[in-house]
Amino acid sequence: MKMTSEQKKLAKAKALEEARVTEERRVKKYMRAAIKQALVAQKNGEVPIGAVIVMDGKIIARAHNERETKRLATAHAEILAINKACKKVGDWRLNGAELFVTLEPCAMCAGAIANARVSRVYYGAPEKKGGACGSVHSVLPHSGLNSKTEVFGGIEEEKCLSLIKNFFEDKRKKV
Ligand SMILES: [Zn+2]
Repeated sequence: MKMTSEQKKLAKAKALEEARVTEERRVKKYMRAAIKQALVAQKNGEVPIGAVIVMDGKIIARAHNERETKRLATAHAEILAINKACKKVGDWRLNGAELFVTLEPCAMCAGAIANARVSRVYYGAPEKKGGACGSVHSVLPHSGLNSKTEVFGGIEEEKCLSLIKNFFEDKRKKV
């Protein structure tokens, strides 16, 4: 039986919708893995920020903020995740990699993400005070000669935001 053009249009719309739902599920799954990392940071008394890097459908690096633990200004979740991923891949180029992070990257991390040639960044909550993916600076999305980094924000935004909010509220209560 041949499909009428109306049926074809409907089938196409249905396929597109299914692809969108599948992608949304995929992205949320990895963001939840990043949130888990943020919770590890929180347990250690760190600002709860977590990141994972995905390549070929697999998480190749997981990291969380360790600034206090390591007493290092550069120990942001994204930098630590990039370092782990480069080690794992055996290359400083992470073409095709996707980075999921609970909070919009700062200028340092956005620069590292562009330098590592990460293909896509998905972040949870915007960072109004120093976000470098459009909130304050626009280091990303980056489109250089050899690389292009796309950015998608607001993934599981409420969960990511409440992590940070609760952390600072608790801290204020303790003071
Ligand atoms: Zn950072």
